[in-house]
Formats: sequence, C-alpha cells, structure tokens
Amino acid sequence: MPQTLAEIPTVNSKSSIGDVLRDGEESLAAAGVENPRLDAEHLLAHCLGIEPWRLLLERERVLNPAQEAQFQLLLEARRLRRPLAYILGEAGFYDLVLSVDPRALIPRPETELLVEKALQILEGTTGPEVIEIGCGSGAIVLALARRLPSGRIGASDVSQAALDLAKENAARLGLEGRIDFRPGDLFAPWPDRRGRGVDLVVANPPYLSREELDTAPPEVRDYEPREALEGGEDGLAVIRRLVGEAADYLRPGGRLLFEIGSGQGQAVRELSGPAAPVIARSEATKQSQLGSNSAGQVSVEDCFAPSAPAMTDSVAAGLELIELAKDYCGRDRVAVFGRRNG
Ligand code: GLN
Repeated sequence: MPQTLAEIPTVNSKSSIGDVLRDGEESLAAAGVENPRLDAEHLLAHCLGIEPWRLLLERERVLNPAQEAQFQLLLEARRLRRPLAYILGEAGFYDLVLSVDPRALIPRPETELLVEKALQILEGTTGPEVIEIGCGSGAIVLALARRLPSGRIGASDVSQAALDLAKENAARLGLEGRIDFRPGDLFAPWPDRRGRGVDLVVANPPYLSREELDTAPPEVRDYEPREALEGGEDGLAVIRRLVGEAADYLRPGGRLLFEIGSGQGQAVRELSGPAAPVIARSEATKQSQLGSNSAGQVSVEDCFAPSAPAMTDSVAAGLELIELAKDYCGRDRVAVFGRRNG
C-alpha cells in the first residue's frame, strides 16, 4: 500500500494540521474575524498548496517549520483584518477565478446578479456592444466577455492601478484581445460612443455613504480602495452622475444597468423621470382604498397600481427606470434604466 502523507508519524503534536488549525481558529476568533474556522482552513491550505477539503483527510500530517512559519505569518495578517482574498491573492466570481489585490475591490457574490441581468438583457442581440464603467478587477466585464463571444466590449476605470489589474486578469483568462480597456472617469474615455450608442452600459459604482464606509468592518474600511466604495455623503453621488450622463451613450432601446445598495431602491426610483414606474401611492389614495376594505387589508391592486407621477428629484435625462431587481436575500440590488423613445 502506498504511504500517504497522513501516515507519516507525528513528531510534534503542536504542529499537526489538526492542531495548528484549532489554534489558528481560536486566534482569529479572538481577533473578531467572522468565519475563523473557514479562514484558517483557507490560509493553511494555501501554505500547503492543497485544496482546503484535503485538510480533513490529512489532519495528522505534520507541518515542516517553513510551512508553519508561513501559516503564522498569514494568520497574523488576517488577525489584522486584512481580507482573506487579498491574502490569498485570488477570488472566485461567477465562473472565473481572478487575481485580486488592494488595487481594486474584491468581487462580491451579490454582484453576480449584475452579470446574470446583463446576459438576460442582451439575449438575442447579435454582436452586442457593451461598456463597463469602473471595471475594477475586471470581474464583471470578463464574465461578460466570456459569455458574449461576438460582443464588442469595452471597460474603463478612473484608477489606472485598477485597470492594470483588470488587464492582468484578462491576460490570465486569455481574454486580453477581447476588451478595449481605457483609463478615465465615467464616460470621459468613451467620446467615440457618444451619440452612436451602445446596447448596454454596466457598472458597479461606489455607493456606500461616508458613514456606512466609516462603520464598515475593518476588512472593507481599512483595506479596500475607498474610491471604489464611497459614493459621497449619501452614497448616491456617482450613481447620480451615471444616470445623468448615460443617455447620450445608449442607442434607442439600450440599457444602463448598475448595482445599488440594499437601502437605495427608493432613492434610485426618485432619480428617474416622471414616467418611471414608482410603486408608492399618495397617502390620500391609500386611505380611500383602505376605507373601502372592511377587513383593513391592502389590496394587491394597491401594491401594483401606477404611482402618483411628477418626481421632483429627476436627474435621469432621457432615461427611465425599468426594473429594480432583488438579490437572493430579497434586497434591492440592481437597477435597470432604459432610454426613453425619441
Ligand atoms: N457591496 C459592497 C459592500 O457593501 C459595496 C460595493 C460598492 O460600493 N460598489 O461592501
């Protein structure tokens, strides 16, 4: 029978996989890390160059001093609340594995919904033209490029460092020739698309309010790039500009698709022009409806009826809100705007 690593005798009980994992978990928990066991496993597997699930099978395996020293180093970084993905240097997103580092935001699982929505919107469009504004690590645009082999795809970011990372990720995935990467703020890099228009503009803009970011976990607040997270005092500064400027870059029927914070649904509705499908009804209408219902229940019609029009805070020149999609937790997460006809 071939000797497996698990059969190598334990020389020091403190340095078996099982032992260092237990100590590692304890020390991460004491530092306030949210998933101490899982993180300890990922860090140790990384040091050993194996998949995390193998740790259980090799619990008795003894670490050599170099491995143990490296594990202690990574644990210390995690205790200081450096995000796990930055320590590992990689993160999974959609069907991709991407390089990640502090040059850009770590891709979040909820952002996969943006990719799903984009693909849904573009279904049936041959050779769609897409640009991503603020591509960061490239997660969204690379997932789209893979799924849209005939697409004409561009991506920009105001941060040259983030753009460099996105290009590295494109090369890593063999997609470097597929994407027109350009540096610059919002639509500034795309003068040639102005007036002519693309099928889809997609973005995961910074949308946390200053206060939300200041009270976010240290992993986010102290390590991820602030410019990728904070959308000004109320979180909506970049979203307002995006919605205000996008119409000139969309062809008729084109869509602007972007991620929002879970509490921003109503504010985003209010950015839309008068024809937007705002759900809320005036208090007077609600009262009279409720009055006619002796059980005091709000009718289905009440929830879906068209709204009182005339929003005063409209910034969406030429655009209207078409859909607010919820994430898997039922929170508002993705806004879809479309160009008004004419
Ligand atoms: N979802 C991120 C967070 O809550 C924010 C991402 C963003 O601002 N685009 O940390």
